[in-house]
Amino acid sequence: MRKSYAAWMLLLFSFCLLPGLAMAAPAQAQDQLKLMVEGKSVDADVPPVIDQGRTLVPVRVVAEQLGATVTWDDVSRSATIVRGQTTLELTLDRKAARKNGKDVQLDTAPKVHNGRMLLPLRFVSESLGLTVGWEEATRTVIVNSPLTVSVNGSGLAAASTVYVIDGTAFVPVDALANSFGLKDWVNKQTIHQTRTIDSVRVAPLDEMRDLLGVDAQWDQKNSRITFTRDTNFTGVEVDGEKVSIKTTNRVTPASFTLEGPHRIVMDFPQTHLSSKMQNGLDSSYQGIAYQASAANDSDDRETTQNNRVNDQAAEMPSWLSGIEENNDSEDVAVDALSQVTAASVPVASDAKPPLVTTIRYSQYQPDVVRVVVELSQKSNYDLSQQEDGVSVTLKPAPRKTGYLIVIDAGHGGHDNGASGVAGNKEKDYNLAVANKVVKLLSQYKEFQVVATRSTDVYLTLQQRVEIANNMGADLFLSVHANSFTPTSRGTETFYYNANSEAFARLVHSYLVKATGFPDRTVQIQPFYVIKNTKMPATLTETGFLTNEIENKQLMSPAFQDKIAQALATAIREYYLQNQ
Ligand SMILES: [Zn+2]
Repeated sequence: MRKSYAAWMLLLFSFCLLPGLAMAAPAQAQDQLKLMVEGKSVDADVPPVIDQGRTLVPVRVVAEQLGATVTWDDVSRSATIVRGQTTLELTLDRKAARKNGKDVQLDTAPKVHNGRMLLPLRFVSESLGLTVGWEEATRTVIVNSPLTVSVNGSGLAAASTVYVIDGTAFVPVDALANSFGLKDWVNKQTIHQTRTIDSVRVAPLDEMRDLLGVDAQWDQKNSRITFTRDTNFTGVEVDGEKVSIKTTNRVTPASFTLEGPHRIVMDFPQTHLSSKMQNGLDSSYQGIAYQASAANDSDDRETTQNNRVNDQAAEMPSWLSGIEENNDSEDVAVDALSQVTAASVPVASDAKPPLVTTIRYSQYQPDVVRVVVELSQKSNYDLSQQEDGVSVTLKPAPRKTGYLIVIDAGHGGHDNGASGVAGNKEKDYNLAVANKVVKLLSQYKEFQVVATRSTDVYLTLQQRVEIANNMGADLFLSVHANSFTPTSRGTETFYYNANSEAFARLVHSYLVKATGFPDRTVQIQPFYVIKNTKMPATLTETGFLTNEIENKQLMSPAFQDKIAQALATAIREYYLQNQ
């Protein structure tokens, strides 16, 4: 050390002999950078400078503050920096450098400034295994020995750098909040001492400890910060459309939905089963936290049983089974299952099943509790975080009460559709026929008939599809009329998905008979409403509004009755064929 320091003095001395160099103008005040090393401000006799966005510091700072040995070779004009197992060789005015004997490229070269050799701080520090950060607000470079951060025994993943400033450890706010499932909540809180270092929001360890309600230990000897918070899942309460999930701490789960049956899956991070909930686990490591006490008949119960077997396969804790989840096989299982469900649930049942049927839970991963709320129908939901868990407000779509048929009158409102040769509008023909179809189908008590519109209003194509999909419709029929050249004539019917072909062909056969127009056949087209609906769906173009003969008929109420009757008969027949 002594020898290398002497070498550095020699360097300084030799530069001072060069005329002009020692007289270089002092740095401007606004260029002044501050340097914080291991939590302490460093006053260098030559302050750090920024060159092309990179901070350069005097060799002396590297030697004295970073605890490295620096030797200078006058002939090659290069510095050799040794700290622990790392050796760096940097040459004045050259970007080519060597780290442990291997070539590396600097983005800024060491240079002479005010008679001192300056080294690129970030490169040197990071090469020596140190943490480096830049705080723009205070123009401070922060360098400290790396600190590891662990949360309940596991390493904190992204953006987990800790900076030491004036003896205080600043920890990453978002990465920490996220790991405890508190990101949204923390974003609503005031954090008093946040700083932004290398674009990451950090806050003092003590403030984050209090804010998150966690234990935090800074083991200075081992350069380690340990966060611990033991959150337990203790149970659930169900009150109609509100589910309260009880935990011993504030925690927000990641959530998503699955179908077959409809369910909301919530994963609570850094959470464990209370001993009571642990005792409720069965041999597949799942527990039932809630079971609706509905007067189900035996068929229903059998269906529920099947569903549970299916879920277990999909949601078995992977860390216990060691088997990765296979989404493909779940899809197949769900498809097979929904057929079972459809076959075993009576059609026109007056007894509404409770919305929440079952709530299951498991220790899905070592630090993740999974709670699955099983529903009798599709439902949107809101999560709101409470001191003692999460409340889930369910927003179910209107209930399906029978064989559900969605009748869609095309266009509407500002969207007129095609124009008829008599100045008539397609949207009015579509609505007239659709309303008649709805009326005809409503006479069957096993049918639940829903119109996407029953008045002259505008709906997007997506809205039309959502009505059908969200309610779990069994059939979808869209009514339209065609337009092209004055001589174009005929009836055509469209479908897109394979499950729609039989329905489309049946509808078309009745429609062609009713119109007496030329048969333009059944065709496959990716129209939005028939492509994106999940149930058998068809779109009919009864005839051409641009043809004088066909338009005259399409405008006649008696003809519209005939068309509506044909469509209703086709739907009734399709229903009876598929029972
Ligand atoms: Zn149309």
